[in-house]
Amino acid sequence: MRSLPLVALALLSCPPSQTYGAGGDSSQIVASAREATGYAITMPRPLLHELGHLADTATIEHVRCLYGVARPDTVHLLWAFEPEIGKATTTYVQHESCPAVAIASWHNHLAGVTMTGTLVPGEDPRSSCYLSGVDLRAAREYASPKILFVQVTRDVRCWWSQEQAIRSGLVGALGAFPEQRAGFGP
Ligand SMILES: [Zn+2]
Repeated sequence: MRSLPLVALALLSCPPSQTYGAGGDSSQIVASAREATGYAITMPRPLLHELGHLADTATIEHVRCLYGVARPDTVHLLWAFEPEIGKATTTYVQHESCPAVAIASWHNHLAGVTMTGTLVPGEDPRSSCYLSGVDLRAAREYASPKILFVQVTRDVRCWWSQEQAIRSGLVGALGAFPEQRAGFGP
């Protein structure tokens, strides 16, 4: 299965005005990176839109724990719940860890937050799709969800496996892998 064209198709076929049912074809492949990690990831369209809307309208960082069903080659993320939030700012969010049964964690970065952690208004949103040093430290905790999403806008979204975050070592920030990001163009 080819990765990037599928992701692009999934996003293009997802207009905001569409009405969504619970039919079997309502899931979108949001991340297809079997070559890199051995599995693809899907989300139902309403969940995809909820997270996209949250990223688009956010003025601070938000977190969601994502639940679903993991199969050998595809992870179906079905629901999102907000964990208890401590303090949240434009560049930081303190929150309860996701429960061990959560498959993925999601948080947004505001467009313009650069890898140095400073907010530069007008910056290309794609440059805000990365795991920060704080994100990487959290991902190294044993009970961390196995998949980590960062979303900047409705279209710009990146993900990493926990294993990739651990393997990255003690770097200050980890950028998006080409086959694990959306909204970056072909
Ligand atoms: Zn972050």
